[in-house]
Parts: sequence; C-alpha cells; structure tokens
Amino acid sequence: MFYLERLTLEGFRNYRYQQVHFHPALNVITGNNAQGKTNLLESIFFLSVNRSFRTRKDHELAYFDGHCFNLKGNFIKEGFNHAVQVEYRSNKRLMMKVNNDHFNRYAQIQNYPVIVFSPDDLQMISAGPSVRRRFLNLEASRLDSLYLKELKDYQRVLNQRNQVLKNYLPRARLEDTLSPWDQSLVELGVSLIRARVAMIKALEIEAGHFFSEMTEEKEKLSLEYASTVPYCGDREEMKELFYRDLLNKRDQELRRCSTLLGPHLDDLVVSINGYNTRPYASQGQKRTAALALKMGEVSLFHHKNDLCPIILLDDVFSEFDLSRKQQLLDFLNKSGGQCFITSAVDLQGMVEKLNRTYKHIVINQGCIRDETVRTGD
Ligand code: ATP
Ligand code: MG
Repeated sequence: MFYLERLTLEGFRNYRYQQVHFHPALNVITGNNAQGKTNLLESIFFLSVNRSFRTRKDHELAYFDGHCFNLKGNFIKEGFNHAVQVEYRSNKRLMMKVNNDHFNRYAQIQNYPVIVFSPDDLQMISAGPSVRRRFLNLEASRLDSLYLKELKDYQRVLNQRNQVLKNYLPRARLEDTLSPWDQSLVELGVSLIRARVAMIKALEIEAGHFFSEMTEEKEKLSLEYASTVPYCGDREEMKELFYRDLLNKRDQELRRCSTLLGPHLDDLVVSINGYNTRPYASQGQKRTAALALKMGEVSLFHHKNDLCPIILLDDVFSEFDLSRKQQLLDFLNKSGGQCFITSAVDLQGMVEKLNRTYKHIVINQGCIRDETVRTGD
C-alpha cells in the first residue's frame, strides 16, 4: 500500500499556506475555475518527480513575487512514513530531503511514483515527436534507473558530437575527433532504443487492455517505435547498422552541423484500429489514447515494483462521454492506487455509484473551503 497521507504547501502557486489530509484511496477535488485544483495536483507531482508537469521554470511555481516555496508530504509506503520535503529558493539548487536525509533532484524519482493525466496530455498524440520522446524518457527512467543514467550520458555525448560537427575541422582531423563520439553515440543510442522498444511492447499490452475497456472492446490500440536507426534483435548487429548509417550521413551532418540519427529523433506511433492517431483520430479518441498510455504506465510500474503509483487525473471527467467516464471509474476502483480527481463540476452522483468511501475536498482561492469523507450508497 502506497499513498500520500498529508501535504503542506507554502508559497506554492496560489497557496500561501495550506495543510491537507488525504484519503488513502480516492480524493475528489472540486471548485470553480482558477481556484487551485490543478495547482494542488502539480504540488503532489513536484514532490514526487521534482519537476512540474506544466512548466520547466521552477520560479513560476513560487507564489507571485515570492522567491521560494516549500512542499512537505508524508507518503505511507508499506506501513512506514516517508517525510519528503522539497524547498525551492531562487538562485539556489533545489533542496530535497527524505526523513531529513538530503538528496539530489530526481534521485528519488522511482521511490514515490506519481502519474498525472491532464488536459495538456492530448499533446502526446497531437503534437510533434518531441512530446512523445519526453513521455518515453520519463516513463522508462522511472521503470529503470540504468535508462536514466544512459539517457543523461547520451545527451552529453550528443551535445559534444554536435559541437565537433560545428567546428569545421579539416576532414582527417574531423574523423579522428568524431570517432570516439561516434562509438559512444552508437553504444548508448542502441541501449536506449532497445530499452524503449521493450517498454513499448509491454506498454502496448497494458495500454491496449485499458483502451479496449474504455471503448467497450470496439477499438484496438497499437504502439510502434519509429526509429531512425534500423532495429534488429541482435545488439551487435544493430550497432553495426547504426555506425554504417552514421558514416553514410557524414556529409549531410556536416552541412547541417548536427547529429541526424539516433533516439533523440525517434518517435512513438500510436494507432487505433491500424490508423495513426495523429492525423486520423477524433478528439475523444486521442484523449482516450493518451489516457491509455498513462494508465498503461500505472500498470507497468505496478507489475514491476509491486507498488501502484499515485494517480492524478486533472479535469478528466469533463472530456469523456458517459460510458468512458464509467469505465474509467471502474478501472480506478480496481487499480488499487491512491487517486486524485479534480473537476469544476460536481461528481458526487458518479463517484457514489462506486459504493466506497472517499474524501471530497472543495478548493476556493488557494484554500481548502470544505473537506468531508463520504460513503457511497
Ligand atoms: P480550472 O478549473 O480552470 O482548471 P484550477 O482550479 O485548476 O482551475 P489552477 O490552475 O490551479 O486553477 O490555478 C489557480 C490560480 O492560481 C489561477 O488564478 C492562477 O492565476 C494562479 N496562479 C498560478 N501561478 C501562480 C503563482 N505563481 N502565484 C500565485 N498565483 C498563481
Ligand atoms: Mg485546472
């Protein structure tokens, strides 16, 4: 059992100071627009992942004109209390503590898993490949710490290699200088691609299962990795193919001053009934597909670590038809993870059909206006 029991927000977004206790299973957060519902979910995500799902700029998270914020959360994990604290001060490194021990940012990313689904996640289907790569990188890093290390190394190698390509060295010197970077690029690139392909195969099963339930078995979701490097079962053969293609691209890379092959350019193709969602799917289908990817991650993490991540669903219920809403609630009920659902409209009738206890929290201008534990019929 893993859940967030208590959270204190200080100077975070529109919260001056607020403490809140949560239900271990289900928390329904309602309030008018612009009151702080998404901000509350963002703070939970930040505590876990050490970054926001809405911005990469930490200073935007500090209360207007403030220069700092502080988040404290008590996660309960297999009966033990983990006091997690994150403190931001402008011009200082983010401070993170777990039970008073200091950690670097992202060091605890696997330990307090939280998965968020927000309206912006439609971008995972609609926007360009970089959004899907970010999704793959974040989720693969959470499933495997080696992936995170190799990803950081790959990004460093990529930057160095691009730097060499920009230096206009004479050809012989260029080949000498590039050679070690080529080797590292190939080595790390092949590792990342293979890890991504393995994750996508597993994700296809889990996300596909969720998607079928959401569409009452009428539609089928499939995932495919679109690689700039030829993929094959054998790692050594793949490295050779990557290296060969890299040499073939040399002139083009020199003209463009950048690396034109590798996982930093790859994509994830999401299809429904065999058709690519990006050009063909409806809004509702895209949203369901994006949600399926996230819920697939929940299941993958759960199977791998025997721990169900905390699920944050921002405004998800306003987007789906009645049948999808019901299917989603049923899935959440079965998942066993702690769940936070925000909505600007009342969800009481819908949630109470689940026949379970939950907490209803009403937010007004960055303050908790009301909190009640309710039981379904
Ligand atoms: P909606 O139903 O429209 O999604 P919401 O309740 O989710 O609304 P939030 O996104 O949580 O609303 O934002 C609530 C308020 O927080 C907004 O009015 C916004 O201007 C304010 N806000 C955002 N960033 C900051 C900040 N750094 N300092 C103070 N207030 C902020
Ligand atoms: Mg919101």
